[in-house]
Amino acid sequence: MSAGQSPPTWVVRTNAAAPADVAPNGSIRTDSTAVTIATALYVRVAGAWVALSAAIIAALAGDVTGPSNNNTLVQMTGAAGVVNILATAATLRWAEGTVAPSLIQRDMTAGVASGETLTIQSQASFTVVSNGGNIVISAGLGKGTAVGLDTDQSRSGSISIENGGVAGITITPTGTQFGGVTGPGGVPQVYLMGTGGGLLISADAGAPATTPANGSLFLSTSGTANTTLYIRAAGAWSALVSTSATMGGDVTGTIASNTAVTLTGSGNLVTVPATTNIRFAAALVAAIGRLRFLNNETAAAARNAADSGDLALLATDGSNVLTVGNTTGITRIQSATGAALATAGTDRVTLSTAAITLALPLVLQGVTPSATGDIRAVNNTTILAARNAANSADCQIVAIDGSNTIQIGNTGQSALRMASSGTWLASVAGSDYLSLSATTFLLLVANQQIYEAVSSPIIVHNARTTDTVTTTFTIRAQSASATATGANENAAFLHMQGGARDGVGNYGGVRLQLNADTAQNMVEVTHLANARRIVSLVRPVALSTTEMPVNTGDLVIFVGNAATVPTASPVSGGIMYSEAGAGKWYGTSGTVTTFGPAEPHCPACGRDYVFEAQNQRRDEHLAICWACFTDEAEAKGLDVSRFAFHRKLRAAAA
Ligand SMILES: [Zn+2]
Repeated sequence: MSAGQSPPTWVVRTNAAAPADVAPNGSIRTDSTAVTIATALYVRVAGAWVALSAAIIAALAGDVTGPSNNNTLVQMTGAAGVVNILATAATLRWAEGTVAPSLIQRDMTAGVASGETLTIQSQASFTVVSNGGNIVISAGLGKGTAVGLDTDQSRSGSISIENGGVAGITITPTGTQFGGVTGPGGVPQVYLMGTGGGLLISADAGAPATTPANGSLFLSTSGTANTTLYIRAAGAWSALVSTSATMGGDVTGTIASNTAVTLTGSGNLVTVPATTNIRFAAALVAAIGRLRFLNNETAAAARNAADSGDLALLATDGSNVLTVGNTTGITRIQSATGAALATAGTDRVTLSTAAITLALPLVLQGVTPSATGDIRAVNNTTILAARNAANSADCQIVAIDGSNTIQIGNTGQSALRMASSGTWLASVAGSDYLSLSATTFLLLVANQQIYEAVSSPIIVHNARTTDTVTTTFTIRAQSASATATGANENAAFLHMQGGARDGVGNYGGVRLQLNADTAQNMVEVTHLANARRIVSLVRPVALSTTEMPVNTGDLVIFVGNAATVPTASPVSGGIMYSEAGAGKWYGTSGTVTTFGPAEPHCPACGRDYVFEAQNQRRDEHLAICWACFTDEAEAKGLDVSRFAFHRKLRAAAA
């Protein structure tokens, strides 16, 4: 183009090289040196040269519009049956205004062959151990109240997979629906294809009437609790009874034959928690019993209260020991009226609401308990004890100690009563030595003793505590019994003895006292000093060496002075007493005779060698001084030597 000329609106030119000049858009150039069609033809588009590689790739921009009388708008022919789409843009998109866009293969218009299969396939992977690409079919998002693009999935469109225009699977914002595709019998259904044939899941009103393969399911839209879910088995439909199930034969058998196991709970409801296992094994399981368990296992267990561990309820072990309960908490075996523990078929411990009855000996704790007795204990132990009344300490009731001493009771209790309705016996070495009945306290040993450390022991008949007459207390020696005719037997002595002396100490004495009073001796057998043994009569205070000093004799009788001399005559006897040391006899006629003079002393000679008698009733008193009497008789010339003698003791002794 020369100077001054206007450039043409389009240019068609051939060069021996690729175009490099400027030309109006729409210009065409060819390269006469091109060796491939890919670089032979160029078009000026948007101020740039674009090679039209028509034989390999067609890159088109802008709308492609064809005639309306021909459905073939774009024809793409690739190599080996493949048309590759250059992936500079990943999305094929219909224009916004396109109405009901679709991707289909044109229907056949001639021939008798079946329609072609249309495949949409994602990319297969190439790298070792890698996954193939996914296929996503997504419905468009819906429009909610938000301005602009809306992401309200709940309003998105549905995805429908159809067959001949009938939806088989419909994915909506609220769920996935199966149905619409009818099979044998004309009911909506879903096939699950397995190696043994297709299983059918179908739903319709009423009961199933089709005959699909075994294992198929039918769900009735009008069934009851027990006629809603059906399972096809053994060529027949079986309804699954949801309120109760009756089954027979093995649990592992076919559903159709399960007719013998019935679980009936309250309100026809048996609830098995999901965490509980009820196990029945095919081998080693018991052959009898409603519940049959394996050997050596925990047959039943429960969760503890804290939900922190298990509690065994019932178990057996390798020694055939049956254990009820476990090591935590208590095991309560409860009955309304009674219970029993049995061995070898016999009840040994029987429990009623009133008592525990043992049919066997009760063996108490310890290594070697006794081999006999209904209650058997080990050695040196407390067998029985009780709490005291104040609940502050224990009271031993029965025990045996290390010396083989059996203890009945001990300290702590207030009293010990050993009672009998008949005779109460105490036995030693197989013989009874004490027999106590309601009428007799019988000692069967010859020697009854009071322990030496006992201070001032006493045998006493307790004093009356009410206005009741007292009764006699008797100590009596053994009486005789002569059973043979004409026989005579002497009764036994009663010995009241003082204690034996040691060395030349005093013998123990014996006293008969009044008024439970040691100062009212009536008879006292005493030993005041060595070789001074005396029977003291009516000497209230204990006789002493004051009354019986040295040389007052041995084996003599001391009579104490009367506290009050008699002034009246006795009846059926006489009264002997001492008055001022004189021995006197008060006779029944009132005459008092002094047989042991001490008073009066002769007013003439002062001696008390007198005979004396007096009688108040006669108002007479006669006293004769035998010394003066003999002196006076001798003075009168009587020969007193015929009836008296008078000598000096000391002179005679010398
Ligand atoms: Zn005289």
